[in-house]
Amino acid sequence: MTTFKAIVIEKGEGGTKAALTDFDEANLMEGDVTVAVEYSALNYKDGLAVTGKAPVVRRFPMIAGIDFAGTVESSSNPAWKPGDKVVLDGWGTGETHLGAYAAKSRVKGEWLVPLPATMSTRDAMAIGTAGYTAMLAVMALERHGLTPASGPVVVSGAAGGVGSVAVAVLSKLGFTVHAVTGRLQEADFLKGLGASEIVDRAELSGPAKPLAKERWAGGVDVAGSTTLANMLSMTRYGGAVAACGLAAGMDLPTSVAPFILRGVCLYGIDSVMCPIGRRKEAWKRLETDLDRQKLAALTTEISLPEVFEVAPRILKGQVRGRIVVKIR
Ligand code: NDP
Repeated sequence: MTTFKAIVIEKGEGGTKAALTDFDEANLMEGDVTVAVEYSALNYKDGLAVTGKAPVVRRFPMIAGIDFAGTVESSSNPAWKPGDKVVLDGWGTGETHLGAYAAKSRVKGEWLVPLPATMSTRDAMAIGTAGYTAMLAVMALERHGLTPASGPVVVSGAAGGVGSVAVAVLSKLGFTVHAVTGRLQEADFLKGLGASEIVDRAELSGPAKPLAKERWAGGVDVAGSTTLANMLSMTRYGGAVAACGLAAGMDLPTSVAPFILRGVCLYGIDSVMCPIGRRKEAWKRLETDLDRQKLAALTTEISLPEVFEVAPRILKGQVRGRIVVKIR
């Protein structure tokens, strides 16, 4: 029997329980590529899964962890060979397919993206699913036609994972970025990432008017609920908001006014089932459009056992930037 350490979630009578245990390699699920996992990340969804605060996991036992970067150990898929460096985000990993908080993962080759040439596996997971989602959101705004000349853009949850990468990427692309945060003490951190103005989260957390003063050409939202509703009602004529999260809530108490009176567009961003072509594009863009020094400034590394301590904190909005998890 070959075993390795993994964070395994089991279902019991009182709910789910996560523990660091020895996992038998023979119990890995089907897949045509086995990867030696080097780094994973702690994303908001990982926090939900490990604490059991939301029903993210839909198969038990489950190895937690929705993303990894590592080296192909064996492959019967012609696209991959031993030694290839790869990245995986989503596709149900850590939800329906055994996940990333383990020394090994067996997955479908078609889920994998090549590690960008100038990135280390640690860089890739410092970016992780949150950073790749931020890039998908930026790409949606670009497809809409937004450019730095369109006017300032806003990012909510700016001190969190998606938000901090979105601020860094948008500022590198030349946008004027307004960063919304509930942690005004992080103003210097956010300015260091490229934000030119800091907006107190409280300004966007009350009930939204159908239309409010036009402030931004576009935005990236991780919060949902009244935050997204306010962003929509403050978006300039013809602008767009890319929505990817629910840190404030699943609801969206808005009206059709921004859409029918200002032609505002709302783009939905999903990282889990995103088609492979767009994933590859996002990872290529992250190679060039995210300053590595800024990435280093927003990254904290933890070990696998430390996931248990940090998981509840990410749900409380207490984590700054990105958490990379060293697996081996
Ligand atoms: P983080 O916890 O790192 O960041 C979330 C941030 O949201 C917090 O740091 C905080 O930032 C802000 N926030 C927290 N509570 C509230 C609130 N009540 N109102 C407004 N803002 C709040 O999480 P991630 O960045 O990893 O993920 C952010 C969201 O995006 C999550 O909901 C996650 O599920 C979602 N997500 C979705 C994906 C997709 O495929 N659609 C992929 C990845 C993430 P601050 O202190 O600066 O205000």
